[in-house]
Order: sequence, then structure tokens, then C-alpha cells
Amino acid sequence: MIITRQKDLQEILEKIGSGPVFLVGCNECATLCGTGGKDEITALSTLFASKKIPVSGSIVLDPACHLLNSKQLLKPCAAQVDSAQIILVMACGNGVQTVAELYPEKQVVGGTDALFIGEVIRAGVFEKRCSLCGDCLIDKYGGLCPVARCPKSMLNGPCGGAANGKCEINAEMPCVWDQIYTHLKKRNQLYLLKAVQPPKDWSKSREVKVSRDHQ
Ligand code: SF4
Ligand code: SF4
Repeated sequence: MIITRQKDLQEILEKIGSGPVFLVGCNECATLCGTGGKDEITALSTLFASKKIPVSGSIVLDPACHLLNSKQLLKPCAAQVDSAQIILVMACGNGVQTVAELYPEKQVVGGTDALFIGEVIRAGVFEKRCSLCGDCLIDKYGGLCPVARCPKSMLNGPCGGAANGKCEINAEMPCVWDQIYTHLKKRNQLYLLKAVQPPKDWSKSREVKVSRDHQ
């Protein structure tokens, strides 16, 4: 899922000014991240009201990143959207752009930062798993991704800075190259690491449009 973090409240307040504001959340990733679900939208509405910032209405889309679906879901909110000066979207950047595309005449602002594609480790805790590089290499590494999970994206690691299985960049984080080695050793596949991987072809990360027929 797409992991988001709510922007600093002061930054959000500066973006919305004196309103009126219409709030949009997302029932999927942003809900699980606690950044744009029903609870967060309700909390923001209450907070804005306490600061005398008018809220014209709100909706939690399901999901925010589906243009046609969002268009349908927002139809009953036409009057509320119309009376808003600002639309604040508490979803990933894709969700913000969906809403902006639906209301080109409105000022649409985002209230979160999208960080990465991640795994739910436990409730409310997420770890990076993928940075959407467009050319998945994980089969070469026993199913673990060094592009996303090594801060240096080393394809031929480790870097030499790991200590006790931890990353030199962040001692709370496991060195993914330590994990790759351990994992491949268990599977008797250490031979995979003998191949020196060429520099990554980042041109494949630049796709801007695909269709299912593309497969
Ligand atoms: S190799 Fe690329 S596509 Fe595959 S998991 Fe890593 S970042 Fe994602
Ligand atoms: S210690 Fe491991 S995870 Fe950290 S930068 Fe070096 S190779 Fe990457």
C-alpha cells in the first residue's frame, strides 16, 4: 500500500487559510496509515471549526485514486464543493491529483506526504518495500529489494558499513544486504550473489501511462 504521513498541522492551516474548506479523505491506504480516514477527517473538521475556519463538507472516497469512481462519489457533494474556497485532500499524491483533475477551477491542496510502497508490520507501523522502479529485480535477491530497502540502493552490496546486521545509515534498521545473504544462504542460493549486477536501467521507471492490454 502507499504509505503517507500527515503534513505538519501548521503547514495545513497555512494552506487552507480562512476557508471555507471541503475535506476529502481516502478509505484505503490513507485510512490504514491514519492520515485520511473517517477519524482523521472528523478530527480535522472539529479542529478547523474550533479555529473558526468554515468547513463546507467532507467525504471519504473509496478510493481517492480512481478518477471515474471519485467523480460519481463526489456528485452528491456538488453544492458543498461549490461553496468551498479550498479543497483539502488527505490522501496520497495520486488522490490529490484525482480531485484536482475533477475540479480544475478550484484550489486543491494536499495534506499528506506520500513516502513509499510499504508493508504493514503491525498496526500503525509500516516498512518500505518498493519504490516503483519499473524493472523489478527482487528475484536476483531472494525476494528482498535492495533498491527500496537499502538507503544507497546498492545492487552489489553490502556497502561495508553494516554492523551487527544493522544499516550504517540508520542503526534501527536492518541492513537489507545482511537479510539477503541470510535468506539466500538458507535456500542454498548464495551462488546468485556471484553475478555482478549491471547499473540499473532507470529509464524503465519513467512510464507515465500503461493499460492492461500492455501486458
Ligand atoms: S526492484 Fe523495483 S519494482 Fe521491485 S520491489 Fe524493488 S523498487 Fe519495487
Ligand atoms: S549498511 Fe546495508 S542497507 Fe545500509 S547502506 Fe549499507 S548496504 Fe545498504
